Amino acid sequence: MEKRSELYRGKAKTVYHTNDPNRLILEFRNDTSAFDGEKVEQLDDKGMVNNKFNHFIMAKLEEAGIPTQLDERLSDTESLVKKLDMIPVECVIRNVAAGSLVRRLGVEEGKELNPPTFEFFLKNDALHDPMVNEYHIQAFGWATAEQIEKMKALTFKVNEVLKALFADARLLLVDYKLEFGVFDGEIMLGDEFTPDGCRLWDAETREKLDKDRFRQGLGGVVEAYREVAKRLGVQLD
Ligand code: ADP
Ligand code: UDP
Repeated sequence: MEKRSELYRGKAKTVYHTNDPNRLILEFRNDTSAFDGEKVEQLDDKGMVNNKFNHFIMAKLEEAGIPTQLDERLSDTESLVKKLDMIPVECVIRNVAAGSLVRRLGVEEGKELNPPTFEFFLKNDALHDPMVNEYHIQAFGWATAEQIEKMKALTFKVNEVLKALFADARLLLVDYKLEFGVFDGEIMLGDEFTPDGCRLWDAETREKLDKDRFRQGLGGVVEAYREVAKRLGVQLD
């Protein structure tokens, strides 16, 4: 597969065209951002860890019957993926209250949510990714009713698969964000699943092992990502 010109440089990944119009290369960079890109730092090895982590998780999800962008890992920091027509919303499931839910509703961090909650956010940094609902998504043509149902069903299925996978590694999957796109008329999971886009706590001590370490200036960010990878059995070296 030949890497061609840059299509898009995001906050954490760069997307490249390839010689195949239906495939893209995602390059995971060391850039780490928070607060809609207001805080940015380079963290050594984060791109490598996240690329390998993402490949491992997407392969597990494929095995469980969830269609994903996954093709193959090309190098330490690059993966070949299907070129999806991305739907500009983020799908968030929460098993435990944290982050913006705590700020928005004034609830206690760490409260178990039964049932787990589902939220849509519009992908728009300038507007700080506002929360939207199914009516907005249809009215503005971001996705059809059928696509919305599919994204919700797949996001819940991911929860079942990953809650169990992380629990086996003594980790609590607190919440996570997924992005979907369309390939050949089918909804597929795109973007990434890494500790940059989810919350993972040690099951016993509740130590944070995800991007909150960066957001909250706790230090040891990549060390925590490595610890999670090690517990899951992701081969990093
Ligand atoms: P952001 O755009 O939020 O700064 P990234 O740095 O992660 O985020 O950039 C990656 C971009 O690539 C995102 O806009 C994402 O929607 C897009 N993307 C991810 N996976 C795919 C895919 N398989 N096909 C097409 N676009 C993708
Ligand atoms: N998330 C993300 N990208 C975003 C917003 C949120 O990956 O642009 C993830 C975040 O890491 C967390 C979950 O989605 O795992 C829920 O995030 P929340 O709404 O609590 O927002 P935050 O306080 O993290 O900005």
